[in-house]
Amino acid sequence: MLRKIIHIDMDAFFASVEQRDFPQYRGKPLAVGGANDRGVVAAASYEARTYGVKSAMASKVALRKCPQLIFAKPRFDVYANVSKQIRAIFYEYTDLVEPLSLDEAYLDVTENKMNNPSATLIAKEIKQKIKEQTSLTASAGVSYNKFLAKIASDFQKPNGLTVITPAQAEKFIEDLPIEKFYGIGKVTAENMRKMSIHTGYDLKTLEKNELFRYFGKQGIFYYDIVRGIDERNVTPNRARKSLGIEHTFDRDLYNLREIFEALSHLVELFVERLEKYDTTGKTLTLKIKFTSFRQITRSKTVAHKLEGKDIIYKLSEDLLIKAITNQDVSIRLLGISVSNLYEPTIIEIDKNKQLSLNF
Ligand SMILES: [Mg+2]
Repeated sequence: MLRKIIHIDMDAFFASVEQRDFPQYRGKPLAVGGANDRGVVAAASYEARTYGVKSAMASKVALRKCPQLIFAKPRFDVYANVSKQIRAIFYEYTDLVEPLSLDEAYLDVTENKMNNPSATLIAKEIKQKIKEQTSLTASAGVSYNKFLAKIASDFQKPNGLTVITPAQAEKFIEDLPIEKFYGIGKVTAENMRKMSIHTGYDLKTLEKNELFRYFGKQGIFYYDIVRGIDERNVTPNRARKSLGIEHTFDRDLYNLREIFEALSHLVELFVERLEKYDTTGKTLTLKIKFTSFRQITRSKTVAHKLEGKDIIYKLSEDLLIKAITNQDVSIRLLGISVSNLYEPTIIEIDKNKQLSLNF
């Protein structure tokens, strides 16, 4: 039986919340994030995007692209609250909700609490309710698997609703630029373009064994998705085991001041990521790869969940100090991750199969 999957994605989420709450930001190029030298853009308004400002961009670079860019400090508690509001709307329709971040989720509405046979109408209603209850817009994608639903939600942003029916899927996928395929990142896409693979159509000309040879196990997945096959389930209690970030430096870092500065910057990005995924944990792990390619990890588990930049920085600094045993150290990569995760949005199904949310 064909499934009915919806992917909902809030439009420029953090930035839109700021523009909603502060009229002076409306219609202006706005970045949510730190304006300082080491700051990073967490989200950009559509006005800012027209200047090429993007999330994850260094604030310095963003300001160069758009000198009149306004910076707003992130208010993650507010975003988390809006996130709860939209999730509550999703649960009116189905318990099969898989959040990907605060502002994004998959819903399987093949069977749903409203007995509505039309996933398109459900998506429309959800968008409408989100607008009524939060004054924000979302884009929705509707299709028969996760890959296509996600592609669809991105297709007519902002405030879009795109449906890809089984009959439309083949053409849709053939026309798709390869960067848009699930799991094809920037580097793989560049490699593919060098091989004259630019669209789904080109990708489909490759045999399974060729894809495996070039791209490993992931290549097998490409083989399936380019044919519209994606059997991944919508899994509500997706248990993430750890969340981390790592960075290979453009050049190896030799001096301790540089190394600690790099760590501080990494912690900043890491804390933003934790906030984006609305999670944290009790175990912090620092990974170090030396110029010799020798790699070590050092961990510390604390009694209470790790929260806030200061605590995370202090702990990772301690781990780094312990890991560096002599002065002439040389490092090519640093990574930080948190495990032993604490999930604020655990979904529990009780004996009556009633869904209760542990918010
Ligand atoms: Mg979004």
